[in-house]
Amino acid sequence: MSRKARERLSRRENNVERRDKMLIHDFSADRATMEEVFDKSTLMVIYNLMNAGVIDELHGVVSAGKEARVYWGKTKEGKELAVKIYLTSSADFKKGMQKYIEGDFRFKSVKRDTRSLIFTWAQKEFRNLEQAAKAKVRVPKPVIVKNNVLIMEFIGENGESAPSLKEQSPDNPEKVYKAMLIYMERLYRKGDLVHGDLSEYNIMLWKGQPVMFDMSQSVPTSHPLAASLLRRDLANVNRFFSRLGVKVVPVEDVYKKVVGKDV
Ligand code: ATP
Ligand code: MN
Repeated sequence: MSRKARERLSRRENNVERRDKMLIHDFSADRATMEEVFDKSTLMVIYNLMNAGVIDELHGVVSAGKEARVYWGKTKEGKELAVKIYLTSSADFKKGMQKYIEGDFRFKSVKRDTRSLIFTWAQKEFRNLEQAAKAKVRVPKPVIVKNNVLIMEFIGENGESAPSLKEQSPDNPEKVYKAMLIYMERLYRKGDLVHGDLSEYNIMLWKGQPVMFDMSQSVPTSHPLAASLLRRDLANVNRFFSRLGVKVVPVEDVYKKVVGKDV
């Protein structure tokens, strides 16, 4: 056998080995759903990320939402990752996304077909997580985004996500509330962003500290919806913590503090 042929064969064997590693154990999904999530192009993206050494293993599903599924993955070094895959087939997704993309100066010249919009949506979440992390807001650290696949730090342990505030009330609600106020202010002032869908569902509690996540809809502070989204975020956070007995700061006061105007 020639050297070329041997190399070819060995490359093929390596690829088969890699493909075998790409076993996706998603017991909650029926065949149709599996094919919906892992269409050919999504499989190629994951395959390439494996070849590039970004992920080594992809395990079970952590969460199966309407618009995205989140999987548990690992690096070669055993570091846990969250792999969020946006469903390119999610039809009414498009309507909802539009208003958050329009008005976002970072995504001015994007194509408007459904696929491109979903890729932009994933890109937007990546950029938002990046800006938030840079502003020292505790979020899952983003690793990479490619088409409809976003990889980030896994919040939790051994494939089990940290509980959301909805699932587990904090033992120290005052402290967590204060941390959230600081995060929202940093996100606005340093990160130039408003979360836009903040509530007890999109805040995890990990090692006693809140972690903000699910940021695809987050918008720059210059966005026409920013003010009303910020008021809604603040009201949601206040409602949750006041039910736990925390003496919350009135929305208008905290709004002024966050945006940096004198009360
Ligand atoms: P939903 O429609 O339920 O809001 P979504 O499509 O907006 O879902 P997310 O809210 O980002 O997706 O994530 C859904 C769930 O997946 C979370 O509640 C959490 O349990 C899990 N999850 C998401 N990101 C991570 C992460 N980085 N680490 C660990 N678990 C995560
Ligand atoms: Mn969510």
